[in-house]
Amino acid sequence: MTPPSANTSIRPVQELGRRCYCGSAALFGQCCWPVIDQQRDAPTAETLMRSRFSAYCIQNEAHLLRSWAPSTRPSRVSFSTIQEWLGLEIRSTFQGGLLDQTGRVEFVASFETAVSESGPRAESAIHELSSFERHEGRWVYVNGVHDPDF
Ligand SMILES: [Zn+2]
Repeated sequence: MTPPSANTSIRPVQELGRRCYCGSAALFGQCCWPVIDQQRDAPTAETLMRSRFSAYCIQNEAHLLRSWAPSTRPSRVSFSTIQEWLGLEIRSTFQGGLLDQTGRVEFVASFETAVSESGPRAESAIHELSSFERHEGRWVYVNGVHDPDF
């Protein structure tokens, strides 16, 4: 915990040798980065979901836009300067595999928000069921429902 008097401004960190932002056991440089950097396509909807979470962590707008379905893609993605993503937990996946055309991923993404750049922080989380589909062969994010009720 950073003392409230310290500078708590949140900046993205991009280190290929750190453990991946998405919570896998792999290094970022071998997990989500190759997908973000277009070295390889995400083979499954879950892999794409993980790479998108990591892209939010490092504020990589290009990957987020590229991996968004054209029908729902925003013109840009803005990032909060007072919010830091803490972790991703994949709860379940439905289809989204190598041979599927659609898939869904249920996850909980936790984050920390500072009331102001130097203010105290509060932890929170988003519970979402995201839908994915293949567009020109590649997985893309379509939309998501918060607090899905199963
Ligand atoms: Zn990853």
